[in-house]
Amino acid sequence: MPEGHSVHRHARKLNELFADKNLKISSPQGRFAGGAEVLNHRKLIKAKAHGKQLFAEFEGKAFLRVHLGIYGKWGFRSYSETPPEPVGQVRLRIASETDLADLRGPTACEVLTSVEVRKITSRLGPDPLQPDPKKLKKQDFINRVSKSQVSVGQLLMNQEIIAGIGNVYRAELLFRAGQSPFTPGRDVSSEVLETIWDHAQRLMKIGVKKGIMLTREDKLRGRPKVADRYYVYKRQGLSCRECGGMVSIALMQARKLYWCPACQA
Ligand SMILES: [Zn+2]
Repeated sequence: MPEGHSVHRHARKLNELFADKNLKISSPQGRFAGGAEVLNHRKLIKAKAHGKQLFAEFEGKAFLRVHLGIYGKWGFRSYSETPPEPVGQVRLRIASETDLADLRGPTACEVLTSVEVRKITSRLGPDPLQPDPKKLKKQDFINRVSKSQVSVGQLLMNQEIIAGIGNVYRAELLFRAGQSPFTPGRDVSSEVLETIWDHAQRLMKIGVKKGIMLTREDKLRGRPKVADRYYVYKRQGLSCRECGGMVSIALMQARKLYWCPACQA
């Protein structure tokens, strides 16, 4: 499943290609025909991401909400003269005179009012990729974790605690903070939570820029191969890059969890 950095990239791309243009919006597959009809010929004002959800505002206060889920995918392409025929199950097509975006297989694709959007975003935790000049979002994250008896490993995957983190960033953020995934949220120090938040901001910005998840800052040049991008994610059985001990794997709420028992005691 894409983590928040990809959704921020999609929002950015939609703005670049389509903001303020005349758009044809359709549902070649038909499952979003009603919504497409509502949006057709409206101008895109701005697309934004909150965690793993994308909200695109169109004129007349109509909002498109997309959640990709596990299988959803955006495809972007440019064309001259006529747009190419849709391939496969295209739920939503947004087309300007030169570019198109095809959305396939999302978990959610719907048109909402601003009130409905607020209802959804008010339930989400803070997103490390949204601006936070007064550090209120950081504090909000710390408060949410500190109130909970649930393990911090589970809390980082909960979109109501912090929005946009998935399995890769969860594992890597905890490793970088030297924090055991099994400690209850309320027993994690606020210094460690600050570190986790600060690293989430930094690493996810790298993700937006590069289009890949990369959590080792000594590997920022170019595009390192997948095996070199992480400290612990999918490295079970291999030796820890810091201590040489063995990286472990466990199941936490049916998701694979990777950690170094020595560095994250
Ligand atoms: Zn280690």
